[in-house]
Parts: sequence; C-alpha cells; structure tokens
Amino acid sequence: MSDRKNLVRRLCILGATGSIGLSTLDVVRRHPHKFDVVSLSAYSNVDVLFSQCVEFSPESVVMVSEPHAEQLKTLLVKKGLESIIVYSGAAALEEISREVTTDTVMAAIVGASGLMPTMAAVNAGKRVLLANKEALVTSGAIFIEAVKASGAQLIPIDSEHNAIFQCLPIEAQNTPGYCELASNGVSKILLTGSGGPFRTYNIEQLDSVTVEEACAHPNWDMGQKISVDSATMMNKGLELIEAKWLFNVEPEDIKIVLHPQSTIHSMVQYKDGSVLAQMGNPDMRTPIAHALSFPDRIESGVEPLDFFNTPAFEFQSVDFVKYPNLKLAIEACKNGQGACTALNAANEIAVDAFLNKKIKFTDIYKINETSVNKFVSEEVTSIDDVINLDGRVREFTTSLLVNYYREDNHAKADRDNY
Ligand code: NAD
Ligand code: MG
Repeated sequence: MSDRKNLVRRLCILGATGSIGLSTLDVVRRHPHKFDVVSLSAYSNVDVLFSQCVEFSPESVVMVSEPHAEQLKTLLVKKGLESIIVYSGAAALEEISREVTTDTVMAAIVGASGLMPTMAAVNAGKRVLLANKEALVTSGAIFIEAVKASGAQLIPIDSEHNAIFQCLPIEAQNTPGYCELASNGVSKILLTGSGGPFRTYNIEQLDSVTVEEACAHPNWDMGQKISVDSATMMNKGLELIEAKWLFNVEPEDIKIVLHPQSTIHSMVQYKDGSVLAQMGNPDMRTPIAHALSFPDRIESGVEPLDFFNTPAFEFQSVDFVKYPNLKLAIEACKNGQGACTALNAANEIAVDAFLNKKIKFTDIYKINETSVNKFVSEEVTSIDDVINLDGRVREFTTSLLVNYYREDNHAKADRDNY
C-alpha cells in the first residue's frame, strides 16, 4: 500500500448541519481510518451539531449564533464533552478554516456568508472542497488568484463541476482556475440541468407556485436556497459563472443542456468529436466521496446505476422565457464581476423573501433584474470591493421588496432553524 492510501485527512467541515454537511459526514462515517473530523460549523442548529460532536469528537466547533453556542456548551458539559472548544461569531469560521491542524476544508456554508471562511482556507493553502458556489460567483478572479498564490488545491463538489473535473485530463485537474482547456483538446463544456420542478409548467402557472412546490426538486434533496435557485434555474446561471472560473473558459465555451433525469451530471466535448460524460444516481455523496479521497476512489454509499431500470435519457435546449433568471446570470457573466456580485446578493435577498412567503416566485426575477441593472458597471478588484458591493446591493434589494409584498404577507412563515 502506498503512503497516500494510509494518509488520514484532517477535516474542517463548514456548514456541517446542512444538506452537503450531512452527506459529507455520511461518507466520512464509512471510512473512520481515512478521515479525522477536526472542526465543524453551523449557524444555529444545536441539536444536529451536538449529535455530530458526540459521534465525531471534533477538537473545536463554531456555532455562529452566540445564544445557540451557549446552549451547545451546556449540552456538551452535561455529556462530559467539555473538552470540545465551542466558538461563536462569524470571525471564528475563518479561524477554524485556516487552523494548522487541518489539511482539508469542506466549504459548505450557503450563500455569500461562506466567502470569507472559504477564502481563509484558500489563503492558508488547504485542500478546498468547494460546494459554496456563491463564494466563487461573488469574487471570481480574486478567488482564483488567491488559489494560485497560495497553492491551495481546489476540488469542485457541485455535481456538474465535479463531473466536468472528472472528465478533464489530469493536467487540467491539477490546475483548476488556470488550466488551458483548448490546448488540452477540449472544445466545449456541456453543463447539464434538470430544469427543476416546474419544467413542464407554463409561464402563467409559475405565478402562483408555492414555497413547498419550489423546494420539492424532482431528483435532488438539497437545502432550501439552492432548491429555489434550481426552480428558477438561477442555480444553472450561478453554475455557469462557477464553471467559467473553475475551468478558465468563457460563457460561449459552455453549453447548457436540459437533461430532466439528472443521470448525466455534465460532459466535456473534445476536438476529435469525443464527448466524455460522468453518470450516476443523483446523490451528492458521489462527488463528495470523489473530492474527499481524490485521486483515490472510496465507497460513498451510493448505489451504482442500474441501466436496465433507468428511465431513457432526454435532452432539451433551454427556454429562456420560462427561465429569465438564467439569461440574467449569463449576461452578468459576460458583463463582469460587478454584475455577478450584484446578481448573487440580490438573488439571496429575493429568494429569502420568497421563502418567507413575502413575494411571489415570479417576482424573484423582477427584483434581481432591477438590482443587477443598477450595479452592473461597478468595479470589483479586491475582497473589500466585493464585501462593500455585496452590502450595498443587499440594502438596495431589500428596499425594493416592499413594492412586491404579497397581499397575504401577514402569513409570513418562520424559516427552518439552520
Ligand atoms: P443548507 O441550507 O442545507 O446548509 C447550509 C449550512 O450553512 C448549514 O450548516 C447552516 O448552519 C450554515 N449556514 C447558513 N447560514 C450561515 C451563515 N450566515 N453563516 C455561517 N453558516 C451558515 O445548504 P446546502 O444545500 O447544504 O448548500 C450548501 C452549499 O453547497 C451552497 O452554496 C449550495 O449552493 C452548494 N451546493 C449544494 C448542493 C446540495 O445538494 N445541497 C449541491 C451543489 C452545491
Ligand atoms: Mg449543481
């Protein structure tokens, strides 16, 4: 056995209580001799983080919300686990990300809140498993420059990007963000998307869809924000921007292909006519296991595809009238970093308002479009610029919401406890 196979990876899992965090720990649980969970983070979900502490005995955890951190400490003391250090506050996320006792950071916080902790891991030269696409969308070239400068190893978790990564030559895998795909024979990236739960709806029907319907993705079980993004196909737009940066290509080099079955997770087309696809059942444990053990392969708990009982593969082009958010994101990608940072911030505010039943599903686009148009030509060349613009866009977008409030807005639902 080689040394590499005996290596124990020391993990920090940011966003441990979310959908990706839980899937990550499910893979880790199957390989106790390969992974050591050193640190975990959550926003406020005490029960789940507590049970993860009991099972994985991390050295430290971050509970961003202070009152929830206090509750967690009390539970840990009662259980005799007071040696686990509990931090609170967003700044502590950066501390655990760059902590010298870890070598691998799973970046699975949702939204731009994940940017600074993910950047901290990048700057510390870690092996960064990137689920938090919003971090890359909001900071693009700045993020990739930091990867290059620190020598961090970047491995995509997003199923499409992980699929593309798997279909690329080794040289490109070793230099994500600054590989030359054309000189490696690649002619196009084929980014697949299911079309979400409303693919067969007509445009009039979209006006009255509910939060529950938007969050019920036909193939994937995900957190609420990305589920809504999948329903509007903003997710595919964010993924196109993510692909531009991860694979050093232009939007024109990426073709979006609707594939409702979500069995092919994306493809790479080569100059000679070959198209390489990565396939599997739609379960995030496959890309997570791949990234955790890369370049080795480990069991993930995902059943292999049964080709004799798999629905026939379908492929369609995208109807941008039905999915205007996707068009908006493609244009933002062409317009530059200010537009992308604004798009992401506006969308986070609009999706949150939809999830809280304040606005209609179709208002997400109108709000996003107004905000992106306002900030489209902003210059963004540093992380401080990103944070500054992100804050201004959030403020502006929040001020727009009142124009769209639903008449039954008093029925505001409490969001799930993170
Ligand atoms: P989720 O909502 O299920 O979990 C989010 C995690 O982030 C939770 O642990 C939560 O406690 C934490 N969190 C939330 N707000 C925070 C804040 N302000 N500060 C610190 N921590 C905070 O989300 P998810 O579906 O697991 O998605 C996580 C990321 O992975 C997203 O960027 C998403 O786009 C990406 N992703 C998810 C999937 C999927 O299948 N779920 C697939 C591809 C990519
Ligand atoms: Mg994806």
